Amino acid sequence: MQRHLRSAWLRTLAYSFLWLCLAALVGALAGQVWMALAIVAILTLGWHHWRLRGLILRSLSRRRLPPATGSSSWDALENLIAHNQRQTRARKRRLLEMLQAYRAAADALPDAVVVVDRNTQRIEWFNQAAGPLLGLQGMADRGKALVQRLQPMPLAHWLTAGRHAEPILDATSPHDPNIRLHLRLVPYSDHRWLLVARDVTKLLHLERVRRDFVANVSHELRTPLTVVHGYLDMMEPEDFPGTGPMLEEMRKQSQRMTQLVEDLLTLSRLEAQSPGELDNVSMAPVLATLQREANALSQGRHRVTLEDDGTVDLLGSVRELHSAFSNLVSNAVRYTPEGGSIAIRLAREGQGATLSVRDTGYGIASQHIPRLTERFYRVSSSRSRESGGTGLGLSIVKHILGLHNAHLVIHSEVGKGSEFSCRFDASHVTVRNDTDSVPKEPATP
Ligand code: ADP
Repeated sequence: MQRHLRSAWLRTLAYSFLWLCLAALVGALAGQVWMALAIVAILTLGWHHWRLRGLILRSLSRRRLPPATGSSSWDALENLIAHNQRQTRARKRRLLEMLQAYRAAADALPDAVVVVDRNTQRIEWFNQAAGPLLGLQGMADRGKALVQRLQPMPLAHWLTAGRHAEPILDATSPHDPNIRLHLRLVPYSDHRWLLVARDVTKLLHLERVRRDFVANVSHELRTPLTVVHGYLDMMEPEDFPGTGPMLEEMRKQSQRMTQLVEDLLTLSRLEAQSPGELDNVSMAPVLATLQREANALSQGRHRVTLEDDGTVDLLGSVRELHSAFSNLVSNAVRYTPEGGSIAIRLAREGQGATLSVRDTGYGIASQHIPRLTERFYRVSSSRSRESGGTGLGLSIVKHILGLHNAHLVIHSEVGKGSEFSCRFDASHVTVRNDTDSVPKEPATP
């Protein structure tokens, strides 16, 4: 194309020169050289201006014009512009098709997707599912402030957190109170966020059905078990000669089942519960009780120590926190062979606090650690059963910590021991009152 344009330009130049030479010749014959040259120069200039006009009109034209047929540089230029126009149109068409395909894909998504301007927090675009799930409709909602449009959803605080916003696991749709949504904020460019809302109504319903089922079954089992347990307690081996070991085993198993039912009920209650009021939990008596319990369970087989830096107390439910820590202490005693030691420690860490239970017991191989808080997950079923475990202890601990904005960190090495640490953030920690740090008579929570 470039070569063609250059040769067309040379040709036009040569023609202009020829015309001037011809004009000079005719002028010389007529004795009017300058006049002839001037006339040809004016005509040439006029022609160039005429072609320039044509070129301008062609480049402004939105219509598809036929290609120029001449061989001058103007024709070559016109053809070049027409070629570029064709290419631009084809590219535009391709882009449009792609855009339409993406929009169709976004509209086909079952989740509501809303593009939000990061600075103004206004709605830029949304897909079709945003209609039934969030109540966004048509062009009228574009450009509106997201927080106001989706009221009464509590989004103002959430949007401020931006990149660090944790997903909202359960929110009621502003459009239909029967729809429950899971909301995620995805910052995908410097200027835009993507709000993704998923309908989790069915999922939450199933979850509730499962929870209710477990709670109901556990509840129904409680009474028959109490009766069986009661009768077994009344039966003396002397009254039934030869049944001693059998009665003993039956008592053990019925106790195990009772404990299992109690743990299942505790879990169901914790699952259905939302974080409650924050009571000031005085930790000195709680720690003393834990140490006493550990000693009672160990019956002198372990050395139990207590470390307390005396600076912090916790905020939350004393009953639940005690139950979580007591589970960890009981595990430490049950999974540490005779002669081992157990250390209960509470210390301030930054703005938060950590309560840890360390033992020198059997330890846990690293592949089991991520699954320990799952219900009924046991590293060794026989060891757990022998020691009276239900497989639900750590699951209960995890739920209780979740209700207190805390989390469980587990470090363990096979043959060396384990450390279970409950990490609390500043929201559930308070500076200890001086009078509390003086060890008191341990209170039973
Ligand atoms: P269990 O009632 O079986 O003890 P948990 O949920 O309390 O159930 O614990 C789950 C499993 O984690 C236990 O079966 C045991 O294998 C392991 N585990 C818990 N604590 C310890 C510990 N301190 N040392 C070694 N293993 C432990």
